Amino acid sequence: MSISDNLNLLYKKIPQHVSLVAVSKTKTNSEILQAYNAGQKIFGENKALELKKKAQELPKDIQWHMIGHLQRNKVKHIAPFVNLIHSIDSITLLEEVNKRAIQNERKINCLLQVHIAEESSKFGFNKSEINNILLKSSMFTNINIIGLMGMATFTNNTQQISKEFKNLKSLFNNIKNNTINTLSMGMSGDYKLAIEEGTTMVRIGSAIFGSRN
Ligand SMILES: *Cc1c(COP(=O)(O)O)cnc(C)c1O
Repeated sequence: MSISDNLNLLYKKIPQHVSLVAVSKTKTNSEILQAYNAGQKIFGENKALELKKKAQELPKDIQWHMIGHLQRNKVKHIAPFVNLIHSIDSITLLEEVNKRAIQNERKINCLLQVHIAEESSKFGFNKSEINNILLKSSMFTNINIIGLMGMATFTNNTQQISKEFKNLKSLFNNIKNNTINTLSMGMSGDYKLAIEEGTTMVRIGSAIFGSRN
C-alpha cells in the first residue's frame, strides 16, 4: 500500500468532524510530499529543529503542528510559523511560547497535554491541575488555549485505553466553550477507540507512512 492509498483509506474511516494530523517525524520530504499530493495539509512533528527545517523546505500552505515534548530553548525556532502546539506541559513553557509569540507579532494556538496513561514517564498535567492552568494562562496575551491533548497507555488492553480516553473526554466536556473546542487523542493503534470516545483530532503516523525505524 502506498502513502496515498493509506491516506485515502483513513479519510474513509475518520468522520468529517475529526481532523487528521499526519505525523511525519523521521520521514523524508519526498514521503511528506506524497501525502501532501494526496490532499493532506496538516502535519505533525515531535522535534522543533526537524519541524523548522521541513517547514522551510516544503509547501507554504502546510499547517505544521508540534506534537512532542518541547524544550523552552527550542520554542524560538517554531514560534514564527507553528500552527498548533499540542504538548504544553508547564506554565514556564507557556510563558516562553507567549514571549516568542509577542516577538513574532502573532498568536499561537496551544493544547494542554494531560497525563492520562498509567505509565509515569509520560509528560503532561494532571487532570486536577487543568482549571488552575487555564486561569493562569488567561494572563498570556498571545496564547490561545484551544483544547487538550492526551496519550493513552501503550497496551493491547482496549478497555483500559477506552477508559483513559473517556476520562480525558469528560475533562474536555467540563471546560469546552467557543475557544476550547479541540481534543487531540488517538494514534495509529488506538484512533478507532478515540473516535468512539469523541475525539476531535487524531495524530497518525505509522498507519500512513509505515513503521519507523
Ligand atoms: C509518534 C507520535 C504519534 C503517532 O504515532 P503512530 O503510532 O505512528 O501513529 C502521535 N502522537 C505523538 C505525540 C507522537 O509522538
